[in-house]
Amino acid sequence: MPTTQQFTNKTVLICGASVAGPALAYWLHRYGFTVTIVEQAPTLRGGGYKIDIRGVAIQVIDRMGLLPEIRQASTAMRGGAWVNRSGKVLVPLGPDLIGFRAPGDDEVLRGDLAQTLYRKTKGQVEYLFADSITGLVQGPDGAEVTFQHAAPRIFDLVIGADGLHSTVRRHVFGPEAQFVRDTGIHACVFTVPNHLDLDHWELSLLTPSRIVQLYSTHESAAKAQFIFRTPAALPDRRDIAGQQRLLADAFADAGWQTPELLHAMPESPDFYFDSVSQVHLDRWSDNRVALVGDAAYCPSPLSGQGTSLALVGAYVLAGELKSAAGDHRIAFAKYQDRMSEYVALNLTLGWTNANRMVASSASMIRMQTTMMRMMSYLPWKGLAMRSIMKPVIHATNAIALEDY
Ligand SMILES: Cc1cc2nc3c(=O)[nH]c(=O)nc-3n(C[C@H](O)[C@H](O)[C@H](O)COP(=O)(O)OP(=O)(O)OC[C@H]3O[C@@H](n4cnc5c(N)ncnc54)[C@H](O)[C@@H]3O)c2cc1C
Repeated sequence: MPTTQQFTNKTVLICGASVAGPALAYWLHRYGFTVTIVEQAPTLRGGGYKIDIRGVAIQVIDRMGLLPEIRQASTAMRGGAWVNRSGKVLVPLGPDLIGFRAPGDDEVLRGDLAQTLYRKTKGQVEYLFADSITGLVQGPDGAEVTFQHAAPRIFDLVIGADGLHSTVRRHVFGPEAQFVRDTGIHACVFTVPNHLDLDHWELSLLTPSRIVQLYSTHESAAKAQFIFRTPAALPDRRDIAGQQRLLADAFADAGWQTPELLHAMPESPDFYFDSVSQVHLDRWSDNRVALVGDAAYCPSPLSGQGTSLALVGAYVLAGELKSAAGDHRIAFAKYQDRMSEYVALNLTLGWTNANRMVASSASMIRMQTTMMRMMSYLPWKGLAMRSIMKPVIHATNAIALEDY
């Protein structure tokens, strides 16, 4: 519902059309701003593993009117297992132990969420696909932006929603090495045929410093995820063939279904590879430019919280811009102030989770396996789960949403 409010700043360029960008565009349009989104990919990017929407982020989804769609798209996992190199089940897992989710939280495919947000906004905001920002100069009356393809334009505000390797952040705040903290872990996800006929089921193989996971909610397709530590030099981010070689070498002797999955890799339509890293910045804005989502405070893909932070950050940033009638000096300061504690708690949680998940020795994996086995059979499993979930529930709810 557009408002009739008069804004100091009216036109907003958002860089990045994944989760944070379209979510922010939705709220800004609803409040009466004029929004353009530039995305470097030629079309909306699918792909990715399943992602969690937890705590306050579920409230944001509800306020967007998207809760029925998210429930419909839910992965609704029935369970799964940890297996050994021969495929023997080591630990059977029920739906609770697969997700470790609090009541009300949900899990969807990243690509499904991105599609939902795109559908909700595509008639309302201008999308420029297959383009990117090449220059950004801020002046007293606006930010002049040059593009790879489109003609230069002046916008009142520019928001970087362009992820871990944000170009907007590089232009305005400096090289990413200052802000990105690597865990030394890498994650790779791609779609493969569902050759094991998995039905809302996930299998995981844990070996020292390496994890292979396979799950499916579709009859014909499954998602393979590889998580690993490697001392090897990483290929350039655009060198997909080099990334696939690195992965194939790293998992050559992993066993189980790995050869079949690696064999399917070159034909996969949505190969995704990135470092498991965090972004730490003291401030998320500079004059007319602000950052949201992974570009500002990526907690790492293994935190389970990147998408929730992006959804909540988009809601708060847009809401503060509306409250300040578009005055970015007031709005950006309040955005930072309201989000700081929530972000800090989730960055801490993300770092711990990522490092705990990828065990580096066989003895640590044996300990993890024993603990999970005990959890599966404990008569007081509910109590144990509540205690494990306590810090997660605290971090995922550590912000109260304003009614903007
Ligand atoms: C293809 C893909 C697969 C993913 N898979 C997983 C996963 O399996 N598990 C997980 O936890 N997280 C995954 N993520 C990350 C997850 O989406 C984010 O952590 C979270 O949802 C926050 O989203 P975001 O919008 O801030 O950033 P991102 O989701 O990273 O989106 C950034 C967007 O900006 C675009 N972009 C980047 N640079 C430019 C530029 N210079 N110009 C224009 N556009 C640009 C990118 O193409 C992308 O669409 C994936 C992201 C992508 C893009």
